[in-house]
Amino acid sequence: MRSTPDALIGQGVACIDTPAACIDLDAMERNIARMADFARRHQMRWRPHAKMHKSAAIALLLEQAGACGHCVQKTSEAEALATGGVRNLLISNEVIAPHKLLRVAQLAAELAARGGRLGLVVDSLEGITRLADAMGAAGSDAGIDVLVEIDVGQGRCGAAPGPEAVALALAIAAHPRLKFAGLHAYQGSAQHLRSVAERRAAIAHAVQAASATRASIEATGLPVPLITGAGTGTMVHEATSGVYGELQAGSFLFMDADYAANERDAAQPAFEHALLIKTQVISVRANHAVCDAGHKSHAIDSGLPLVHGLPPGRALRYANGGDEHGILHAEGPETRLPALGDMLWLIPGHCDPTVNLHDHLIGVRGGLEHGVVERLIRVDARGAVT
Ligand code: PLP
Ligand code: MN
Repeated sequence: MRSTPDALIGQGVACIDTPAACIDLDAMERNIARMADFARRHQMRWRPHAKMHKSAAIALLLEQAGACGHCVQKTSEAEALATGGVRNLLISNEVIAPHKLLRVAQLAAELAARGGRLGLVVDSLEGITRLADAMGAAGSDAGIDVLVEIDVGQGRCGAAPGPEAVALALAIAAHPRLKFAGLHAYQGSAQHLRSVAERRAAIAHAVQAASATRASIEATGLPVPLITGAGTGTMVHEATSGVYGELQAGSFLFMDADYAANERDAAQPAFEHALLIKTQVISVRANHAVCDAGHKSHAIDSGLPLVHGLPPGRALRYANGGDEHGILHAEGPETRLPALGDMLWLIPGHCDPTVNLHDHLIGVRGGLEHGVVERLIRVDARGAVT
């Protein structure tokens, strides 16, 4: 029979069945403290993106540390976190289906009744009209924050900076149930540009576009209360821009292998890997070993996992063995392969879709070698993609 994860609390890490998604709680808490300190020093609000951890318990932990609320990407994600007690949410994505906008409107009323607030981004007049219709149908006077998303270089969603964005801001302001709350200016394609110089240049462009758009909107007499954006890869640039007021970085909390491959800016806090997949060696062959974590345990869209914590002469390279296996190669001629039954820890290539593969994250206190299981963290919005 499968053991229940609850039975693990208080047990040593050796008892965690594999493969399993684990959180090094000490590393995660250090990451939170570093982010809180960074935001404080730069006088920035921070609204971490919860698409990464999808957990109400973690969101509340971040809010205790100073986060002003959370971003989510989907309506159902917002609902799942609201059910778990999170009250300040921004859906940083367009919602167009009328039935879903009705849910957005209902959630806005619910959060307002609990002393919180819901926000949504838009990039079309049609989207604004549909949202206003849904707010009217829901009949609540609580209102909703609406931000105009501008495309600052990614080429995904977002109105063109300048006149198109100005027209949208004015259209929002014309609806009594919609509150124009600012500009959403997230540059997603800059996050993994490897060099500091490339990321700085990409964000300089975003800052210029956002700043000019704000000036054009304010020239009509409508104030722009906030410009929000930034991910873990670029946050030092938005934070020092003098234009952005809020940081949305999410991955800093767990730090995946893809982010570890970025050249680090000296001003960037030294975030640690806190999400690890525990795996066991189940076969040892002449020139490779095989572990029990494949891409049903971790996402591989941004690259394969790294093997964590091995000293230099013992490094192993993880190769794709399919959905249930990983193939481990010795990195140098001196390296020994692990032994049958050995436990290893993998740093996933991309934390967001990795978390979405698991119902629980197993929180380990006291290090990965000798630690104990302290808590289970429910992935409340697992699979919430609507
Ligand atoms: N803001 C938005 C709109 C995003 O889509 C994302 C991630 O995809 C983030 C913030 C957070 O970025 P990261 O997890 O890379 O820190
Ligand atoms: Mn991501």
